[in-house]
Amino acid sequence: MPGHTSSHRQRCGKHLSLGGLALTLLLCPATTAQPRQNWLTPQPKPAPQAPRTAPATPCPVSGNPDPLLGPRTRMPGRWVGRGAVKPDLPIVVMAGHADSQAMASAGTPGFAVDKRRQAPMDPRMRDELYWNLQVQKAVVRLGRTRGLNISAYTPPALTIRNDEDPRTNWSQAKTRSARGDYILEIHFDAYRPYGFGSGLIPAINRPLHAVDESLAQAFGRFPRLFRSGLGGPRRGIGILEIAMLEPPLENKLRNPSTRSQTLECIAERVVNALVQGVS
Ligand SMILES: [Zn+2]
Repeated sequence: MPGHTSSHRQRCGKHLSLGGLALTLLLCPATTAQPRQNWLTPQPKPAPQAPRTAPATPCPVSGNPDPLLGPRTRMPGRWVGRGAVKPDLPIVVMAGHADSQAMASAGTPGFAVDKRRQAPMDPRMRDELYWNLQVQKAVVRLGRTRGLNISAYTPPALTIRNDEDPRTNWSQAKTRSARGDYILEIHFDAYRPYGFGSGLIPAINRPLHAVDESLAQAFGRFPRLFRSGLGGPRRGIGILEIAMLEPPLENKLRNPSTRSQTLECIAERVVNALVQGVS
């Protein structure tokens, strides 16, 4: 979605355009770092080109390549999601590889661990799963505040070797997708040159609709039969590759001082797309 901005920025930007510094301070207190002022004293008008009040940490505006997520998939698809969905569409968010640790399909270790020999974020799991879980949590939390009918599913064990075990992401997706739930599985792609970039690998078991389309417009779209049709999409999972797990995004996630803001901005991208898809 070119030109899309965070809702907070839009909200505060309007107030700024009124030219009222005091009004901006009143309405956007959390994102301003101004000294205390006497409201009754006329304030000097801020220069229009350089407003003194701006959100302290606005989310980057999307683009391609994207300043937050990097490049979109270098192997794009051509499908279009056209069907409408109900506003209360049940959305189930899963973390990719949540039940396949210590297996061949454990997910990417990421650039930091593989190439820089840094310690994994959590020794029990690949870094991809660690970040998948963080994004999953943030998406569900933010999605609820935006009125989505959204929930998380997380398997009870990090390693479940039998795909048909009813507790796996795949088994849960198959059942829930059959009853009409939207299954979104969060992933990070491998770092370059192995990764493809961000984008949605859509479900194969049903017609594609407005939510698939909205996510594809926000993140990019993979071919519908990517790698001849993956196990997840065959069971109704939409695989969302957030980005390749490499710098500079990986550094922002690993740095404790930028981590929560980065996760929040990623979640906001996902939730904005979901909200647009169901409305
Ligand atoms: Zn993955």
